[in-house]
Amino acid sequence: YDNRDGHIWMDGKMVDWREANVHILTHAMHYASSVFEGERAYNGKIFKSREHSERLKRSAEMIDFEIPYTIDEIEAAKAEVLAASGLQDAYVRAVAWRGVGEDMGVASARNPVRLAIAAWEWGAYYGDAKMKGAKLDISKWKRPSPETIPSHAKAAGLYMICTMSKHAAEAKGCSDAMMYDYRGYVAEATGANIFFVKDGEVHTPTPDCFLNGITRQTVIGMLKDKGITVHERHIMPEELEGFEQCWLTGTAAEVTPVGQIGDWKFEVGALTREIATDYEKLVRS
Ligand code: PMP
Repeated sequence: YDNRDGHIWMDGKMVDWREANVHILTHAMHYASSVFEGERAYNGKIFKSREHSERLKRSAEMIDFEIPYTIDEIEAAKAEVLAASGLQDAYVRAVAWRGVGEDMGVASARNPVRLAIAAWEWGAYYGDAKMKGAKLDISKWKRPSPETIPSHAKAAGLYMICTMSKHAAEAKGCSDAMMYDYRGYVAEATGANIFFVKDGEVHTPTPDCFLNGITRQTVIGMLKDKGITVHERHIMPEELEGFEQCWLTGTAAEVTPVGQIGDWKFEVGALTREIATDYEKLVRS
């Protein structure tokens, strides 16, 4: 990803893609003092752009730093990056972090807070699995309690267990892993929220220790508009046996059907397909 043409917005300036580097003693690299956003532009416009900028600011506050730009400034920077990329459909990554400065210990209050934004092309997150139904492994790592870490922040530190879970899943030929939470309830995948269908109703875990994804909220709204009952509740692993359909939601994943989790199988059913198609229409409307 580092060797390509283009420009990345860094701390207020557009810099050459290959020159968008940071020093090795950057605090974030040692202590995970970093938050980020994953966004998608469709037809030249970022879907729910402002919601993403607001979440970025909130994530930073949750891990104890303030991004030195207003929401409007971040919005303008993202628009500039997107225009410079020349792309109509793009993935947009904003990242904010504690830089290098006076402090090299755990505390870093005197180090500058930095912000960078890049955009590139990113097709279907689960590749071929997209409409056939992704196969998920079950992770041995559990989503932590909000008393252990600010689990609603989209913060780098929370992705360590996601990366390990996804690596283990891929080694078994799976596209991703489903994670339980610290209490044993079904939580989410490593970069996407999860939904189940049973008897025409939808069940999805209560987001009390993981991201209440922007796509998740959008899809719940779409389901309710169709008059479909959505149960946001704690879901026990044994219940997976009784669910007929399953899908994941996320900015990168969009709506991806799931065909299998561990030994549990699901059909890529009519509602799953309808929601995936409707979401695609919505983001382009
Ligand atoms: N959970 C995790 C761990 C994620 O990384 C993401 C992607 N940001 C999501 C859920 C879905 O969030 P969103 O729909 O806002 O992209």
